[in-house]
Amino acid sequence: RAKADGRGTYRFFETGMDARAQARRLLERDLRLALEHDEFEVYYQPIRDVAGGQVVAFEALARWNHSLRGLIAPNNFIPVAEETGLIVPLGEIVLRKACADAAGWPEAVAVAVNLSPVQFKNPNLVSSVKAALQASGLSPDRLELEITESVLLQNSEATLAVLHELRGFGVRISLDDFGTGYSSLSYLRSFPFDKIKIDRSFVTDLATREDSMAIVRAVTGLGKSLGIVTTAEGVETDTQFDLLRQEGCTQAQGYLFSPPRPAADVAKMLRRAPERSVA
Ligand code: C2E
Ligand code: MG
Ligand code: MG
Ligand code: MG
Repeated sequence: RAKADGRGTYRFFETGMDARAQARRLLERDLRLALEHDEFEVYYQPIRDVAGGQVVAFEALARWNHSLRGLIAPNNFIPVAEETGLIVPLGEIVLRKACADAAGWPEAVAVAVNLSPVQFKNPNLVSSVKAALQASGLSPDRLELEITESVLLQNSEATLAVLHELRGFGVRISLDDFGTGYSSLSYLRSFPFDKIKIDRSFVTDLATREDSMAIVRAVTGLGKSLGIVTTAEGVETDTQFDLLRQEGCTQAQGYLFSPPRPAADVAKMLRRAPERSVA
């Protein structure tokens, strides 16, 4: 009886593994087809200057326009794209589209592109960034590359060399999701980041949690002392925005202003005055 149960459990476990592995294989196959069929789109979310209220940049965010499943958000495909290495061609598509789109915008605001740690293992990263700038004619100082601390965890000497090379031709480097990894402060000494993006988790309870408020205050203060721009992510309410302004946070991004929208909506997002009067 016990033996039978054991076998049953084992068989079930094996079947479960198979199902997961198969789902992953299917997703990988679908991702390859999607790359061939150009099913990836770039959406843009505005980032506003806190003091002046004007849009200063857009973050480029990948969307998969699946023929059957509709629009798919990055959390559903970036992890498998990273595991399979498909993030390299996908990242290059996003980079090229973002640079080309930004070069055509009616105002010379910046475009921020997310880079995966896996892309830093690709020896062609620097040349593909250069190629995207050259093909689009976008001025390098309008391109911001967003990396997370996890990029610096892996082979950090090689990574730092790549970051310095990118910086060397005028591209700016932002530290994304700040406060969610480890030893954040030492990373700020290892590379002169241009921008710190304060993770949404701290902004969400800014008005309700003293500790979140204290952390945001500390990070904006750190940014000021180090001469680094601070951008708050996930700003959804007027109250959060007022607190960020009070603390001297430089920029804000979030649904309060706009969710990410298709490239065709960028001009509209630039024209539209902030929903609230800023200063
Ligand atoms: P991220 O780089 O931290 O991007 C910000 C995410 O927060 C976006 O989610 C954005 O839609 C969301 N967001 C912005 N404002 C608000 C808000 O007020 N409230 C809430 N609840 N969410 C807000 P999205 O587009 O789903 O992207 C998720 C993550 O996927 C990104 O986080 C980034 O890590 C990754 N990602 C997206 N596109 C790319 C890409 O092209 N390459 C790579 N490597 N990663 C990407
Ligand atoms: Mg980002
Ligand atoms: Mg982020
Ligand atoms: Mg994030």
